[in-house]
Amino acid sequence: MDLGARIAGKHVVVTGASSGLGTHFATLCARHGANVILAARRLDRLEALAADLRRAGAASATAYALDVTDADAIASFVAALPEAPDVLVNNAGISAAAPALDTSVADFDAVTATNLRGPFLLAVETARRWRAAGRGGSIVNIASILGLRVAGGVASYAVSKAAIRQMNAALALEWARFGIRVNALAPGYIETDINADFFATPAGEAMVKRIPMRRLGRPEDLDAAFLLLATDAAPWMTGVFLPVDGGHLVSGL
Ligand code: NAD
Repeated sequence: MDLGARIAGKHVVVTGASSGLGTHFATLCARHGANVILAARRLDRLEALAADLRRAGAASATAYALDVTDADAIASFVAALPEAPDVLVNNAGISAAAPALDTSVADFDAVTATNLRGPFLLAVETARRWRAAGRGGSIVNIASILGLRVAGGVASYAVSKAAIRQMNAALALEWARFGIRVNALAPGYIETDINADFFATPAGEAMVKRIPMRRLGRPEDLDAAFLLLATDAAPWMTGVFLPVDGGHLVSGL
């Protein structure tokens, strides 16, 4: 089965597309001929990326400034899309690494507003558009293996990703009857801006040794699972929380 061919011509919204996995997912979809809609705060970066993606084969690539912590901006963004997208990729996310005892209220609120409330509101606004148009679609929530297990110093992040797991299930339950599939991709550790500093430390190097496959993930390690969830390749799959992690979740105790 050619998973890439199934995203061709689809309209795919990717939040947090200005770096890391968001840029990667947008590029993957564009390379296979999708219409990509890039949304993040840094419009200049997104516009440069959109130009690159058009050259790389995107059917179209458009950039929108969007802060996912801003509820009004989310409603305006979804309303401004010329047509209801086929796929929403809730990718934007932040981490505030600190022991729980040192986590400020502001950091906790920023993490939950970005990683949980934003994806929830984007999902709801997009689903409302799908309902208004009498059609369904696919939502891919980018979660984390920290939604299932814990690590030291990232309590607020782990809480937000565990909450995404339940959000994913709850929305899948409510919207399956409308032809809206809601699934979560839960990556293990993949080196990007969000964690590059950490993997340069002795603790980071020690963590890599605990991954059964003994290496960090590469963004392309996620491609097949991402396309499986995003496209209609697995039309009866919804509410799934799919780890892709080099075996990290099954590491020995
Ligand atoms: P990253 O920092 O490179 O990318 C995060 C993106 O989200 C950036 O483009 C950033 O600008 C955007 N963003 C942050 N706050 C935003 C806001 N308020 N509004 C709009 N955009 C905002 O990190 P990444 O590793 O590419 O992370 C992407 C997603 O993957 C996140 O949800 C992260 O939790 C998840 N994830 C990453 C890893 C990993 O190892 N890299 C593992 C598991 C899950």
